[in-house]
Amino acid sequence: MAAPEQEEQRHIPIITAVHPENKAYFKEIAAPKKVIREGRSKIAVSCSQCMKPSSNGAELLKCSKCKIAWYCSRECQKAQWPTHKKVCKEASSSMPKFLGSFIANPLLNHTLQVPFVLAFDLRKNPILDQPLIARCDVQIEPSDMTYIMSLAFGRMSPAELAKGTEGMLQVKTFIPLDAEKAIDITRMEVWKNTKYPNKERGFAGNPTVLVDFHMKGTKQTITYGLVIEDSAIERVKAGAGFAMQSAIFGGQTEVPLTTQACLDFINMHIRADKKNQLRLRTHMTKEDVDNYRNAVSGDDEQPDKSE
Ligand SMILES: [Zn+2]
Ligand SMILES: [Zn+2]
Repeated sequence: MAAPEQEEQRHIPIITAVHPENKAYFKEIAAPKKVIREGRSKIAVSCSQCMKPSSNGAELLKCSKCKIAWYCSRECQKAQWPTHKKVCKEASSSMPKFLGSFIANPLLNHTLQVPFVLAFDLRKNPILDQPLIARCDVQIEPSDMTYIMSLAFGRMSPAELAKGTEGMLQVKTFIPLDAEKAIDITRMEVWKNTKYPNKERGFAGNPTVLVDFHMKGTKQTITYGLVIEDSAIERVKAGAGFAMQSAIFGGQTEVPLTTQACLDFINMHIRADKKNQLRLRTHMTKEDVDNYRNAVSGDDEQPDKSE
């Protein structure tokens, strides 16, 4: 296993091992709880109706049914209801909270920046004055593989199903979108709300991009802005992929740096987090399990894979 570089904290080790079940390796590279908590408190949440940003999500009102839409006031909530009710769906877990923990995690954030560098060729051509956008389909999945298998083969008793199970966030796709078509006024606001504060923090020379997190099995999306940091661009320049550790033989294989390899790394890193240090796990109720089952059985539309 390659030892991570210790020299400077802000440098993410370039060779990142994909660790199927490796506890020690997970501990070595995972972001501490404190870092995620602090990062999360700095993420601005915008009102779903008027897009007014709030640096503290707690001040906003949340749609109590889907827990995805946030509002600065009752007026905004009322004004949006006629359109929102068409997509609002009961959910027990708070997706914005998970996505906040995801974005606030330096390692996961970095690993999501890389596909942007690859897809939009930001290594050669950093695009600074206009937003770029990609869609990521996300889902809460049972963390226990045997549970997924039993579910797929219909081996679960009604009593077992009623208990629910533990779930975790998984990122299923990364699809670059055409900014001209995909960016509306509200997304433009999110872009500006990400770009301008970061300009003050000294990231003026770095591209700012948008991620449309699309909740699989629903028609809802949450848009976040990301700054593409130098480390992601340098990583693509260096072509530094992942070291895949064989769980059986203990040997190492090099996995090239592709979008799919980044998604695999993200998902395996979350899967390896047995103790929920990353704050990306939750209890799935029976309804959550049903939603998951509908989503995988193709009840919702399946976008084309980009790679
Ligand atoms: Zn508002
Ligand atoms: Zn709602």
